[in-house]
Amino acid sequence: MALIPEAEVATVFRRLADAMPGRTLDAKGPKGQPDAFRSCISCMLSAQSLDRNTAAAARALFALAATPEAMLRRDDAAIADAIRPCGLYNMKTRNIRAFCAALLDRHSGTVPDTRAGLMALPGIGRKCADIVLSFTFGRAVIAVDTHVHRVCNRIGLTDAKTADRTAAELEERAPDWAMQDGHFWLIQFGKRICRARSPLCERCPVVNHCLWYEASRAH
Ligand code: SF4
Repeated sequence: MALIPEAEVATVFRRLADAMPGRTLDAKGPKGQPDAFRSCISCMLSAQSLDRNTAAAARALFALAATPEAMLRRDDAAIADAIRPCGLYNMKTRNIRAFCAALLDRHSGTVPDTRAGLMALPGIGRKCADIVLSFTFGRAVIAVDTHVHRVCNRIGLTDAKTADRTAAELEERAPDWAMQDGHFWLIQFGKRICRARSPLCERCPVVNHCLWYEASRAH
């Protein structure tokens, strides 16, 4: 694909903002987790897992241990057993233990509130870091999940193969005023209109700017 002109980027965000709900007051931690530690762990659990399975795994895990110290007192088998519903449980168990050990070692158990600090911790990539920054710390960051990635690259807001690259390009191209709520507009737009299969282009508020639509009409 390609990129839409710089001058159209703000218009696209304005139209999405008008058409979609933004951040709500009750938007908190990934999957509704109440603190930064649980948000990080939940994000790790969510890799390649359905929301309901992630939620079940998180519930079982935090009933077992809700702090890094308590987590490290549990053995691998107990952690793996608790998080079994979300799949990849052996790898996720190793990541959780490494994350807890590093958090205690480097930050005395307190989750850092910077992207660099978060991403330096085992098991935390850009997506998790941005989700925690946005939801838990309330920062003006557009976290990029599969919906946001798809929508941005269809329209031509970004031209990126990976979600991490999309996040970096959005940070450069999105207007400052769109950073606080942009994630929420884009994700709702991706779920309601620009769906993965059969997007509803005839109802789309940015159809006049969309490169994907333009290309599909040319064929
Ligand atoms: S025109 Fe279609 S493909 Fe383009 S952003 Fe709108 S819904 Fe998505």
